[in-house]
Amino acid sequence: MQSIEDALRKLETSKFRAGFYLSRAERAYLAEKGMETMRRHAEDFVRERLAPAEPKNDGKQTPMSGHPVFKAMHATACCCRGCLQKWYRVPLHVPLSEAQQKKIVDLLMAWLGRQRVF
Ligand SMILES: [Zn+2]
Repeated sequence: MQSIEDALRKLETSKFRAGFYLSRAERAYLAEKGMETMRRHAEDFVRERLAPAEPKNDGKQTPMSGHPVFKAMHATACCCRGCLQKWYRVPLHVPLSEAQQKKIVDLLMAWLGRQRVF
């Protein structure tokens, strides 16, 4: 995986990925819960939905909206193992390491941090 900044820059070149924004409700939820809680939610989602070698419903495990982290997962191409493979060359059918999970969470939080300023 490349650096967070490189990843965010590359994502901006994709019309589809760059088209995700937090809704008003998601923004309010993020403001209410704060970034520390958001990181814990991100860690849980990544561990439960992406980290297993064969995630349940892979390709459809991330709702398109309803939680700021779900939105971040789509915006950063961390929504399913197929997208992780395509964008970051993360091999399929292998559990994600702790380091890989942390890097994904860092990327999600960086994206959320940028959204928050608006
Ligand atoms: Zn995906």
